[in-house]
Amino acid sequence: PDGLICYCRAGFEPELAAELTERAALAGIAGYARAGRDDGYLIFHADDADALSQALPWRQLVFARQKAVLIAELEGLDPRDRITPVLAALEGRGRYGELWMEHPDSDAGKPLSGLARSFGNALRPVLRQRGFLTAQPDPRLSRLHVCFVAGDRVLLGRSRIEDSAPWPLGIPRLKLHAGAPSRSALKLEEALLSLLGERERGAWIKPGMQAADLGAAPGGWTWVLTRHHLRVAAIDNGPLQPQLLDTGLVQHLQADGFRWSPERTLDWMVCDMVEQPRRVAERMATWFREEWCRHAVFNLKLPMKKRWQETRLCLDLFADQAGRPLTIRARQLYHDREEITVFAAAG
Ligand code: SAM
Repeated sequence: PDGLICYCRAGFEPELAAELTERAALAGIAGYARAGRDDGYLIFHADDADALSQALPWRQLVFARQKAVLIAELEGLDPRDRITPVLAALEGRGRYGELWMEHPDSDAGKPLSGLARSFGNALRPVLRQRGFLTAQPDPRLSRLHVCFVAGDRVLLGRSRIEDSAPWPLGIPRLKLHAGAPSRSALKLEEALLSLLGERERGAWIKPGMQAADLGAAPGGWTWVLTRHHLRVAAIDNGPLQPQLLDTGLVQHLQADGFRWSPERTLDWMVCDMVEQPRRVAERMATWFREEWCRHAVFNLKLPMKKRWQETRLCLDLFADQAGRPLTIRARQLYHDREEITVFAAAG
């Protein structure tokens, strides 16, 4: 049967399933999700997987770390020869420009990384020899995903470079810098990497720009902004890491992040306050309605059930109340636990 393979944070399969089902239905495509509890991936079945994939661009998906069109599901593989069935499944289906060996980011999936890697080392030269894989990576061709979901079960998928995450497993590998005041720094770094394109980062994040960080303490996000040489008003009643103030770029303001507003339009506003997502979404809309900022990154915490419904509701509320056209991108990042991250830009 045809379908899509999508990866997600383990435990968020129901959210991803709800999101795909609703978005597919809106595009006039009937489909159904097949997911196991805490699997870290699901398969969404529909009659025409390519039409489905086109209707659901990866960049618009909130809960999918990666998206690929299912080629085959191989079960009961013989550990002595897993290659033959893979080749049989690929026969007559063209050529790939890259091979990614993967496994779900789940308790069951993580131990399969060694197997995936060593099998990939055996498979890669055979694929090249048979003409299924180019000698050098070719971004014009589809990428082949070989995903071990068990020792004897493999999913084969294909993705287009321009419509998929550029990282194996859909996970950008970021290292926490020793000087970062908190692990949260990784969240904003990932957000800027994942929700903005390279050219957008160059144009929209420039030395000397002005930013506000609502709920800034201990200062991970503020630190990321100062690394880009932005000036930051850090709003929090709690203490900031003292070294941040040494940069000369940070002004610590002990104020309520839901009340504070700037005197003139800022280039950036970021917000990591732990609060009800609807309340945050409303306040973020006010910032854009009042033209207090041009760009924003904010988190919506989702500790409740029905997290897809809450996500949609909050994003709709934000878009409606902003009162002017916005670019809005939202994703559950790798470093997001029970939350999603939203990027918004005026215009
Ligand atoms: N982004 C920060 C970092 O990278 O270090 C971590 C932020 S922490 C998750 C949430 C912060 O929001 C807390 O320091 C808390 O004091 C602050 N906060 C919560 N409600 C707030 C409010 N109404 N006004 C200002 N700060 C608030």
